[in-house]
Amino acid sequence: MNFMNVKMNLNALTSDQLLSETKSIVSEERRITAKLIEHLTEINQRLLFLKLGYSSLFEFVTKELGLSEGAAQRRIQCMRLMQDLPETRQAYERGSLSLSNAAKLQSHFQAIKKSGVVKTNEEKKAIAKNAENKSQNECDQMLFKLAPEQPRPDKARVLSPTLRELKFSISEELFKKIERLRELLSHSHPHATLAELMELLVTSHLTKLEKTKGLQPQIFQPCDEKIQKPETRNQKTAAKIQKSAAKNQKDFDQSFGEACENHKTSHVEVGKADKTHLVHAAAKSLPVGIRVALPTQIKQQVWSKADGRCEYEYQGRRCSSRYQLEIDHQHPLALGGSNELSNLRLACKNHNGFAAIQALGVVKMSSFRKCERSG
Ligand SMILES: [Zn+2]
Repeated sequence: MNFMNVKMNLNALTSDQLLSETKSIVSEERRITAKLIEHLTEINQRLLFLKLGYSSLFEFVTKELGLSEGAAQRRIQCMRLMQDLPETRQAYERGSLSLSNAAKLQSHFQAIKKSGVVKTNEEKKAIAKNAENKSQNECDQMLFKLAPEQPRPDKARVLSPTLRELKFSISEELFKKIERLRELLSHSHPHATLAELMELLVTSHLTKLEKTKGLQPQIFQPCDEKIQKPETRNQKTAAKIQKSAAKNQKDFDQSFGEACENHKTSHVEVGKADKTHLVHAAAKSLPVGIRVALPTQIKQQVWSKADGRCEYEYQGRRCSSRYQLEIDHQHPLALGGSNELSNLRLACKNHNGFAAIQALGVVKMSSFRKCERSG
């Protein structure tokens, strides 16, 4: 039926019939959305999105199902809320709880949990009940009154092809640190804007991380080496721990380097081989089936080989996530896997966990799924 025919049919309806049909369509739409959320719950339970090569359910819903980012986020948050508070599903289907408010409730519960506040299910139910029949604005106000100190959710808006607007809340302590940094940089960067400060800090940190992980440096603005921040007591302690960890890694790398050299001298034919070959060969001397601190050379090679992206692949579709990457033993250590380069790959946290589930089974799965759900 084309648009004109539909319009002619609608023209024939009385106003009461038109209103009645419209209401029943809205009700049907809510029923279908609830059904979609049910299906997403099952896909999430089965970790089907991971099998298909998506690093998250959100990525699956936007890329595989083609929903917009906002629509996906609302449905997934609603799914999580309905899992915790099944009665919210009836409220949604009745039309008393909107999808947006359900998503807001879930984000609120996640945020307060993150800040260490524990709410019982009864308390959550009462808050959800209060959110019924409220506009988005009224719901925002209600949640703000419940937790006025909670940071607002981050927001990013595209202003132009080269410009974005970020909106996020920060603690008073961080604000003061930023002001202090602005003061210390006032000679080299007079009147630096927040965006300029952020670029400076992000670039500096990225450069260090890329170097550590053996990745090709991206082209950014040159970072300023003059940044000097006064150290707090916690920072000093953290620096001490980092220094100690770095020393342990250095000692380990040194003994690994010696292993490379031993290999080189005991195998004359390898003398002409490049460093990569030596690292490969000496990696074979690492114990099998036992987790060891991998030498920096090996970690860098794994990162470099993977180009800093998750290597999980399903039917030619690679995950490629750059988020929460870990070094994965393809043949698990628990099953006698080695620490050799050929057994190592880069995987996002979810695919690393998924691979463990596939290899080790359901017991491992339950502990992984706890982590996955809290993420
Ligand atoms: Zn992945």
